[in-house]
Amino acid sequence: MAMTSYRLHRPDALRTLTRAMITAAGWNEAEAKETAEHLVLANLSGHDSHGVGMLPLYFNALADGNLTPHAKPAIRSEAGPFLIVDGNVALGQPTARLAVDRAVAIAQTGGVAVLNLLDAHHIGRIGHYSEVAAAAGLISVFWVNVAGRPPIVAPFAAKQARFGTNPISTGIPVPGGAPLILDFATSRMAHGKARVALNKGVTVPEGYIIDGEGRPTVEPKHVFPQAIPGLPLGALLPFGDHKGAGLSLIAELLSAGLMGAARIDEKPHRSWIINSLFGVLIDPARLEPDAELRRQRIESYLAFVRAAAPQDPSQPVLAPGDKERATRTERERDGIPLDDETWSQIVAAARAHGVDAESF
Ligand code: NAD
Repeated sequence: MAMTSYRLHRPDALRTLTRAMITAAGWNEAEAKETAEHLVLANLSGHDSHGVGMLPLYFNALADGNLTPHAKPAIRSEAGPFLIVDGNVALGQPTARLAVDRAVAIAQTGGVAVLNLLDAHHIGRIGHYSEVAAAAGLISVFWVNVAGRPPIVAPFAAKQARFGTNPISTGIPVPGGAPLILDFATSRMAHGKARVALNKGVTVPEGYIIDGEGRPTVEPKHVFPQAIPGLPLGALLPFGDHKGAGLSLIAELLSAGLMGAARIDEKPHRSWIINSLFGVLIDPARLEPDAELRRQRIESYLAFVRAAAPQDPSQPVLAPGDKERATRTERERDGIPLDDETWSQIVAAARAHGVDAESF
C-alpha cells in the first residue's frame, strides 16, 4: 500500500476552522469552542484518531439526521454524590464536559461524585475528562461504552465482534506537577487509529485485526464495512487477551447496560457513535490531606519506575501521560500533521456548510 502525503497545520487554524464548521452547522459558539478545544488537543496529544479527523463523521451523522444541533443534554437527577445526565445524543464533547464539570463541583464539595452520562454522541478522548478532573485536583476513573454502531471488537477467543472499543481512563493529580493520565481503548488498537491507517493507505501491525472469517490480517479495511462491500466485517482484537475483553464487558455494563442506555447489541446501527460514561471522582485530600506528602509519595514511586533500565536505550521508560505531553510540545512547535485523505474529507464537510477550509 502506498502511503499518502500529509500537511502540517497550525493548532490555532484548526481550532478556528472547527469552530466555524460547528457554528455554520447550527451549534452555538460555546458548543463549538468546547468541541474545537477538545478535538485539537487530541491531535496535539498525538491521538489523531480523536482529533479534527472526526469532524467528517460528525457531519455525516448530521446530514443523515442522526445528530442534530437541537439536541441538548439534561440533568436527570442529582442526589448526594450521585449525578445522572441524559446525553440525548447531543454533540458529545460539550455534553460530557457539562456532566464532568458538574461532577467536579460535587466532588469538590462532598469529596466524591459518581457520574453516569447516558447516550451522548461521541465524547472523544476520555483522558480529556481525566485532565479536567485532575486540573481541579481530583482523582477520576471513567468507563465508557460505544454503541449505535455494529460491534467491532471480538471477545477473547471469538471470531466475531461483540464489543465496542470501550475506553477506560484514570487520572491522578500530582500536587504542583503534571497529572498521571492512563487512557486507552480496551481493543488493542482504537478503531479511529485503524481509520487513520486506512486513510493513510498503510497496514496495521500484526495481531490487531481479524477479517470476517476470523483470520489474522494487517489490512485496516476489514474493520470498515464501506471499505469491503459485500464481505463480512472483521474485528479488532481486545488488548491483553481475556483481560482487555473482560474490561470491555465491564465498561459496557457500568456505563450503559445497568441504566438501559444504548448498548452495542441494541438500537439501530446508524451513522452516529453513541457513548455512555460511568465515572467516579474523588478528592484525594479526603484520603491524605497533606498535599506535599501526596506529591512526594507519587514522585518517589514514579522516579523508581522511570529508573528501570530500558530494553532499548532509545525508548525511555515512561509514565502514563508522558507521551501525550511530549507530543503536545512537539506539535505546538511544528504543527499538526493531517494526511491528505483526512484533510480532503474535512474540506468536503466544511464546504457542505459554506465554509472554505483552505482559507483558514
Ligand atoms: P494508546 O494505546 O495510545 O494508549 C494511551 C495511553 O497509554 C496513555 O495513557 C499513554 O500515556 C500511555 N502510554 C502510551 N505509550 C506509553 C509508553 N511507552 N509507556 C507508558 N505509557 C504509555 O491509546 P488508544 O487505545 O489508542 O486510545 C486512543 C484514544 O482513543 C484514547 O484517548 C481513548 O479515550 C480514545 N477512545 C475513545 C473512544 C470513544 O468512543 N469515545 C473509543 C475508544 C478510544
